[in-house]
Parts: sequence; C-alpha cells; structure tokens
Amino acid sequence: MNALDTESFDVVIAGLGPTGLVLAHLLGQRGHRVLVLEREPVFYGNARAVYTDDECMRVFQAVNMADELQQRMLRETPCQWVAPDGSVMAQYCPTERPFGWPVVNFFYQPYLESTLAERLERYPNVEVRRGRELTQFTREGDGVTIVHEATQTYRFTDSSDAKTTANGPPAPRTVHARWLIGADGGRSTVRTLLGIEMTGKSFPEPWLVVDLKAKSPDASGLRHVPYFNFFCNPDGPVVSCPQPDGHHRFEFMLMPGDTKEEMEKPETVRRLLSRYVNMVTCGGQATIPIVAAVSRVAKVHYAEIVAAISSRSAGPGTRANIDEFVETTASALERVGGATRGRAILILNPAEPPQLMRDTVFVLSDDADESAVRASIEAMVAEVQTYVPGYRLKQELQFDHVRVSVPGLGEVSGLKTSAFLEVEGAADYLPAFAGNLDIMTSASRATGERIARFLASQGP
Ligand SMILES: Cc1cc2nc3c(=O)[nH]c(=O)nc-3n(C[C@H](O)[C@H](O)[C@H](O)COP(=O)(O)OP(=O)(O)OC[C@H]3O[C@@H](n4cnc5c(N)ncnc54)[C@H](O)[C@@H]3O)c2cc1C
Repeated sequence: MNALDTESFDVVIAGLGPTGLVLAHLLGQRGHRVLVLEREPVFYGNARAVYTDDECMRVFQAVNMADELQQRMLRETPCQWVAPDGSVMAQYCPTERPFGWPVVNFFYQPYLESTLAERLERYPNVEVRRGRELTQFTREGDGVTIVHEATQTYRFTDSSDAKTTANGPPAPRTVHARWLIGADGGRSTVRTLLGIEMTGKSFPEPWLVVDLKAKSPDASGLRHVPYFNFFCNPDGPVVSCPQPDGHHRFEFMLMPGDTKEEMEKPETVRRLLSRYVNMVTCGGQATIPIVAAVSRVAKVHYAEIVAAISSRSAGPGTRANIDEFVETTASALERVGGATRGRAILILNPAEPPQLMRDTVFVLSDDADESAVRASIEAMVAEVQTYVPGYRLKQELQFDHVRVSVPGLGEVSGLKTSAFLEVEGAADYLPAFAGNLDIMTSASRATGERIARFLASQGP
C-alpha cells in the first residue's frame, strides 16, 4: 500500500469542466475538503459554449465570480433572425435585468473556465490534480473508494488538437471520499460505471462549428457582424456569434448530402465564410492595387501610402477608427500588395471647397525595368477603372534609383516608384469629392459579384 492510499476527502469531483469548477467553488466556499480529478494534463481550451443567461450569472455571483467573469463577456448583444436577403425579420434585445444581471451574455468558454480554475486558489481546502483520470470506484461503508491513474491517452496538448499518448506509467492511486460527484461530461465514466443511460436530447442536425480569432482585437475584421445572427436560409442555416477579444463563432448546418469530411476541408470553410467578408479601407482600395502591380514585376521591400480624403466625406466611423485604418491598410499592403513592410498615413483634408480624394503611393522594390513597372501599373489602373470609373493616375509615374534606410529592414537599394492617384466619385448621390465612399461602394459591389460568380461555379 502506498502512503497516498490513506488520503481522504469530503468530496471527490471527477471532471474540471464548467460543472466541476462551479461545484468546486461552492464546496470550497463551504469549507469542505475537495479533490478534483481532471483527465486532461493541460487545459485544452475547447471553445464550446458561447452564451449564458442571468440565472447562470446568479450562480457565478454565489461564488463571488460574477463581476470578474462579466468583464470578459459581451452584454446585451442584440440577437437577430435574418432573412436570406439580409433583411432583419426579428430582433431580441432584452435590457431589463430581473435577476440583476444581463439576460444575454456572450462569452468565450476558455476564458470562463480558466478564470474559474485560477480562482480556486482562494480555497486551501480544494485540490486539483490534472492528468489524473478516474477509472474505478466502489461504494464502501459511509463513502466511496476511488481509483485514479495518470491519463494514458488524452485528447489535446497545449500545442495541438491531436490525440497524445502519455510517456509515464498509469501509477494508480486510491482515495476515499464521503461523496463522489461525476462532473465528467457527456462521455462520463462515472455514469457508465453506474450503468446510468444518458438522458436528455441534443439537436438532431449536425453543424460545422468554426471559431475565429482576429489577429488584433482592435482591428477586428468581424466588426461588420456585431449582432448574434441566425441567418434563416433554407439552403443552409448559419449562426454568427460575436465574442469578446476578437473571437467570433460561425456555425453552419449540414444539409442533406453534406458530409463531415467535405465540410471540414479548409476550402469549404473558406467558401462558407466568403459571404461574411469585410472590405479593407478606402485608402487601401485605392493604393494596394498599385503595390500589387509592382509586385508582379519585382520584389517589393517597402510600400508607403498617404491617403488624403476630404474632411467632409469622413464619417463618424472613419474618425473613430483612424488607428484601425492605419493598421489594417498597412497590413493589407503587405498581405495583399506583397510588400515586405507596409506603412499607411491618413489625412483628413479640411480644405474648402472640398478636394477630391488623393492617394500617393511610394514603392521600393528590387531594381526592375521601368517600362515593365509602368505597363503593369497602367494595366492595373485600367482594371480598377472597370469598377471605379473615377480612379486615375493624376501625374506621370516617377522612378528613382535609391539607397535608403527602411525601419525594420535596414539599408535597401532599388527602384523607388511614386504614383499619384486621384479618385473622383460618380456624384450620383454623394458629391464627387466623396471618392473615398464611392471606391468602397464600388469595390464592395465588385467583390459581391465575384463571390456570386465563385458560388455559382461551385454548382447548386
Ligand atoms: C458547439 C457547442 C456549443 C455550445 N454552446 C453552449 C452555449 O451557448 N451555452 C451553454 O450553456 N452550453 C453550451 N454548450 C454546452 C456546454 O459547453 C457544456 O454543457 C458544458 O461544457 C458541460 O460542462 P461539464 O463540466 O458538465 O462537462 P465538460 O465541459 O465536458 O467537462 C468534463 C470534464 O471532465 C473531464 N473528464 C472526463 N472523463 C474524466 C474522468 N474519467 N476522470 C477525470 N476527468 C474526466 C474532461 O476532460 C472535462 O474536462 C455547447 C456545446 C457545444 C459542443
């Protein structure tokens, strides 16, 4: 017998999911000696639940966790039922708080679980043992004797979703407890050993769950889908759920004929998400094509753009997000334009009468044939003009052979191409100086048409 065999607790909880965590808090608060056995050696952070209500908030309040957990929740986000044409059929947004907490709370489950787990430290009478799996138990006298051992095959490591096999031996141990609580989830060992059938019901339809995280929470490419939307499309229902810190959940219902294998392919996921794309900034729409045109001819080391728009055509959204404009555009100069390093500057021009949108593009590339660069840019300008007729080169392209110091890249020598663009709006509804708005609308329409062509090419 091992010395540990004599261990004794008031309660052993199998499973450190949300149920086990809340139980451990409740029992710890009441002074019980608790051991929690969790089979996963590390928290695997599987995002599942996204929503909780005011009754659950009351439970969190009971263990003094509600305020902390609320800080990382989106509160009272409107929920919408959206028709296939994008119109909103119904909205649900309760703002009354009959239990003192918001009725609608969206969260990211790994935050919830890790916060609850960290705060267990406040109870010296609660012990958590990770990587220990309950395998057997027997009822004895006034309690239960529980066998637990080192998990041999667990689902996730902290760096991968793959199944992993443990290196060490199982090293079984026993503990005694007055009570054993099975909080070990849908495939509960405790329930199986007791011969209890799983009751309750689940949704019969299978869904593909896609969890996204914006690279920067401040520059979320998903701000344009701010509500919890049920897209009620008979051809394929979709759920879109905003979550804190740039997380976002999409769920796509599998339709008859859809297979799990096909739905999980990256190209399928990209196709499904393509309906929900956001557009890069007006300055990016105007300038990135020029950088991409140079990239077709020579390696681009650095691209810097200066977008000047009339102050009168800069709405509250632009004004509130200038930092986001700069970051997003710089990132797109690199990722779409092909520059190793991108930099963007936005100028709100207060001149009266208002000036047309102007964009200056400096591109530093490897040395290249100037006529080839010129031809590539002129072809690109002609292409953009097919959907933005007021887009043009305002002056001749300028070429210089330079050697300059680029922040982050050091000394670079090569061809500096300077392009000076003007974007005149169509003036159908907005004034001609609002070319920044015109180019966005035109680019959105062109993108929508491309998506429609792509989807049509995929067949019904
Ligand atoms: C896609 C999806 C969306 C969801 N959305 C929502 C939602 O919006 N709102 C909501 O309330 N719920 C939602 N749920 C359900 C919610 O995630 C679960 O109800 C919740 O995670 C269950 O918590 P639990 O602690 O009971 O079980 P689990 O979270 O499954 O935790 C069980 C724990 O026990 C451990 N374990 C298992 N066997 C053993 C063993 N033998 N010994 C020791 N440890 C063991 C496991 O490793 C695990 O950590 C969703 C679920 C899914 C899949």
